[in-house]
Amino acid sequence: MSEWEPVIGLEVHAHLKTRTKMFCRCELEYSAGENTRTCPVCLAHPGALPVPNARAIEFTITLGLALGCEIAAHSVFARKNYFYPDLPKGYQISQYEAPLCGRGTFVVPTAGGEERVGIVRAHLEEDAAKTVHAGGATGRSVGAAYSLVDFNRGGTPLLEIVSEPDLHSSDGALRYLRLLRQTIVELGISDAEMEKGTLRADVNVSVRERGEEGYRPRWEIKNMNSFTFIGRAIDAAVRQQIAAHEAGERVEQSTYDYDPDTDRLTVHRSKEEADDYRYFPEPDLVPVEPPAELVERLRAELPELPGARIVRYAAEIGFERADELVMTGNEANALLLVGAGLDLDTAATVSMNQLAGRTLLPENAAPLGEVIRAGNLTREAFNAAFAAAVEGPIDAAEFLAQTAVSDESALGPVIDAILAANPEQVETYRGGKEGVLGFLVGRVMRETQGKADPAVVNRLLRERLRA
Ligand SMILES: [Zn+2]
Repeated sequence: MSEWEPVIGLEVHAHLKTRTKMFCRCELEYSAGENTRTCPVCLAHPGALPVPNARAIEFTITLGLALGCEIAAHSVFARKNYFYPDLPKGYQISQYEAPLCGRGTFVVPTAGGEERVGIVRAHLEEDAAKTVHAGGATGRSVGAAYSLVDFNRGGTPLLEIVSEPDLHSSDGALRYLRLLRQTIVELGISDAEMEKGTLRADVNVSVRERGEEGYRPRWEIKNMNSFTFIGRAIDAAVRQQIAAHEAGERVEQSTYDYDPDTDRLTVHRSKEEADDYRYFPEPDLVPVEPPAELVERLRAELPELPGARIVRYAAEIGFERADELVMTGNEANALLLVGAGLDLDTAATVSMNQLAGRTLLPENAAPLGEVIRAGNLTREAFNAAFAAAVEGPIDAAEFLAQTAVSDESALGPVIDAILAANPEQVETYRGGKEGVLGFLVGRVMRETQGKADPAVVNRLLRERLRA
């Protein structure tokens, strides 16, 4: 049996967060009533001419710089010709031979070191309108009674980022996609929300035997808008392709649909080649030639990117926690507490636990830091301090008064009583299953109405259990 290696590349589409559309002045408003944000340009009336959105071009360059791409001095919009009811012009304005952003590298930190994912290109295009299939059970075109088109979305600036097939597992692909999304969001160029359709991905999957050069035919799974389904679709594609190769069947290059109910891919249509689109330079638009000063200004404005921050924090608190801190949005609270003098390790711990999902008021960083550093407060006092710190100004003194019982002579008899009452757990612990300690600590805390110092309880319990 051969050992197979998945080969995965992603094409990621993000709606840019501009005020207006890519080539006209219609406003982008997701909640607007259907077909209320249209004009002769985005409805393709004869004679209407496109005018490029300067902000969308800047956003694309910014992202290109973040991905280490070469920024083109001369970039061209091209017509991609095809017919579909959501595309009134009969072509999409995209970029083909001369994209705004050329080759780059996106560095994805992992527990095992940095993974470098090649970027083929990042270009700018316009999104199609939205088709809604109605009157059927599935919401798909097959079986629908009729279809409606909402042209509000037509002409939305769309950034497409194409990676090299450098990814070799569904986990790796998802890690790349999540970090890319985080980067896009932090740069402020897109909300990149999969649930709202402002971030979508086409996934290209093939397999090859380990050590094999070159690539086998790939399957393209288009328009995926859920991290979970992307992961499952990749795994399903890998499974089905390996089975086909091993059975000696032909694997054709095609577009596939993923069906979550059966966890299988079914062929959608055979893949078009670029030739089928009859690309040619858009005659209604002049080439885009970003001035060097603009590119340098955008480069200077780049913030420290999430990937770089993960690497920096990881040196102090380890990769897993650094990754979690940055990717879960608890970083801001942690940095406030670091600013108040806590070490990053402690600040990260409380930010990802007690403060998770809540916003610490900046003025409370210092008093809360004091409370955390005190260490010997009752659990209630800690919890109350964390709860209050996201509500309004707090006074550390109020919580510092509520010290926990750490006096061994006071805790000793309680602990002895708990041990005597729970012989089974004592036996289990001594048998090597130390996880049971948490249960015993919990009993002591309950017995002391939460006033005991958990660190001291832990130590005393361990000492007695060792005896
Ligand atoms: Zn318009």
